[in-house]
Amino acid sequence: MAWQRTILRTASATGVGIHGGEQVALRLRPAPPGTGIVFVRNDIGISIPARAENARDLAYATTLRLRGAEARTVEHLMAAVLGTGVTNLFVDLSGAEVPILDGSALPFVELLRRAGFDEQNVTLPEMRVRRTVRVGDGERWIELRPGDELAIDYLVSYDAPAVGRQRFTGAITPQRFAVELAPARTFGFLDEVPALRQRGLGLGGSLENCIVVDRGRVLSGELRFPDEFVRHKVLDLIGDLALLEYPLRARVVAHKAGHALHVAALNELLSNPEAWELVEPDRLAALSVHPYSGESEFEAALAG
Ligand SMILES: [Zn+2]
Repeated sequence: MAWQRTILRTASATGVGIHGGEQVALRLRPAPPGTGIVFVRNDIGISIPARAENARDLAYATTLRLRGAEARTVEHLMAAVLGTGVTNLFVDLSGAEVPILDGSALPFVELLRRAGFDEQNVTLPEMRVRRTVRVGDGERWIELRPGDELAIDYLVSYDAPAVGRQRFTGAITPQRFAVELAPARTFGFLDEVPALRQRGLGLGGSLENCIVVDRGRVLSGELRFPDEFVRHKVLDLIGDLALLEYPLRARVVAHKAGHALHVAALNELLSNPEAWELVEPDRLAALSVHPYSGESEFEAALAG
């Protein structure tokens, strides 16, 4: 059974957005039960709930958009939110994009930990996949399969020999997320930089916030893991799964996918109500929260 959780205190960070290239101030604030994760554009006064239906512009990052307002590159923060079990949070932004910080989810995990966790003593239903859902074609696809816990099997394959073919597989526990996945940084290929910048993307990217690959060479120093690339793809997927708003019980199999396919899989699932169910907290557990209510009613009836 899942419980709702927020943070105890506000926590802040400032940094550049990897795509827009602008300095942005980020502030995380506690939120009451039932809020979910809500991005608040302080500069224009518009709030954007982090939900799959608000996900747009999915090339190279996940952007949320509502009423013309955007919150760009939310996925690493969202992965940290899911990975630390936070379910209610306000995310204030002074501009359109979440700061990239070191390119991984680790600075966000540390920010949330410094803020402290506040257990809200309110349950949250879990989302269970009942029937396999598949999106994509050819060699790029994702399947959401029934499973007892969240487990991910992700395969990437790139022409650049420095990356090559990498696979990650396993259950996603809070411990595994924090140690094996959160530190994995985003990456890009040197020969794609001019085309990216022509599209107005990657303007804030640097060797400090992105692993840069030139064919067989990594230009940005030591890797944190030999298979850091696929670990980062798993991190991206976890950030996108957080847009479901409920903890997911499923086995997710991804083959050469990316944000667009991640979100397409969520929308395919949500538009097929027979493929999933919300599992409400155990009825016995609910009774134990108010163990004496039935008894007092019985006593009142006797007294009457
Ligand atoms: Zn990423």
